[in-house]
Amino acid sequence: MSGTVKEAVSLMEVLPESDQNFVLEFIKKLRFFSLAVILWIIMSITMTACSPMQGREEAYSASFFAMDTYMTFTVYDDDAKAAREALQQAQEEIGALEALWSVTDEDSDIYALNHSGGQPVTVRDETAGLLSFAVKMAQETDGALEPTLYPVLTAWGFTTEVNRIPAAEEIEKLLECVGYDRVKVEGSLVTLEDGMMLDLGSVGKGYAGDRAGRILIEKGINSALLDIGGNIQAVGARPDGSDWRLGLRSPFGEGIFGTLQISDRAVVTSGNYERYFIGEDGVRYGHIIDPETGYPVNNGLASVTIIAGDGKLCDALSTSLFVMGLSDAVAYWKTHQEEQPFDMILVTEDRKIYLTEEIKGKFNLQKECKDMVIYPVTSSVAEGKKR
Ligand code: ADP
Ligand code: MG
Repeated sequence: MSGTVKEAVSLMEVLPESDQNFVLEFIKKLRFFSLAVILWIIMSITMTACSPMQGREEAYSASFFAMDTYMTFTVYDDDAKAAREALQQAQEEIGALEALWSVTDEDSDIYALNHSGGQPVTVRDETAGLLSFAVKMAQETDGALEPTLYPVLTAWGFTTEVNRIPAAEEIEKLLECVGYDRVKVEGSLVTLEDGMMLDLGSVGKGYAGDRAGRILIEKGINSALLDIGGNIQAVGARPDGSDWRLGLRSPFGEGIFGTLQISDRAVVTSGNYERYFIGEDGVRYGHIIDPETGYPVNNGLASVTIIAGDGKLCDALSTSLFVMGLSDAVAYWKTHQEEQPFDMILVTEDRKIYLTEEIKGKFNLQKECKDMVIYPVTSSVAEGKKR
């Protein structure tokens, strides 16, 4: 993943509903915790869930730090033991994936590849699978997603949190070691050119959400909400069968700008408003980099939220459509949504919201954000039309 685990904060306790407020409040106070998507009215959902009419589903939560972010998994079930076991297994899976893909852990597959000196490396199946996916998405997005960008990210200090503005010549030199087309994945054998470095930070958390969700389903859980550092993976619907209601965090720092109702979906947001630094030149530099220039994206988009069944697809697209900018992102959706269905919510710096047609009825603008104008994106019309 991009970056290391900075604090071994382990809040892994499976708690009944009554203790969740305390844990969530505690987490909120921690420095690195940031929600792109705020869990919305979970507490009131649970009160309904606990009525005897509903089979006494209770909420059980696990909060922990992994993959450089805070995660909170909440499952709803009427069997406390089963719920706790399922949560434990889902958390263990996240730990196992992190161990495979950490850039700094010397035992990880990614570390082995990054220090292979151009020699082929046999990696675990899951690593080969996610790498192939990342390379395929890099091709599909014409390099907007770039899994070999790590040296450039490091030069900007985004992997160490010691930020700096690299010289133009330095960036130019580092870009010579960037290029997804020079990663060879043949079964479980992966070859990376000497000097290149891989990082699965832009897709790993989405994949982790998919895996954790699948484990919960295998353990018999039908209703769960996984918050993976702001990425949301919804397993099923709320215990009463209705959609989850998520608050979408405003990229302008004013709470939430809208709510979204979904079931059985992943919701992943990318923006340059969460991890960034202000340079000595007073300019704001965000952590998503345009692989073509080596500089942080600055194209008028404030955030990109992707909604789809597959979390890793959401993760790959949220990063890459953010890199593309508004018109290329809309064009991408138009050419790909049939074979690879997804919905998106694009927010521009000038406070416009572009929503794909399917999701429009599921989105509600916050009262306080009524100045934001919504433009539906449809498959037929060339440009979104004002509502
Ligand atoms: P986050 O992981 O912060 O929620 P993203 O999923 O959008 O956000 O991933 C951004 C991460 O991916 C960055 O922290 C960085 O490690 C890496 N990254 C930045 N730009 C790119 C890019 N164009 N392609 C692939 N990875 C990128
Ligand atoms: Mg991403």
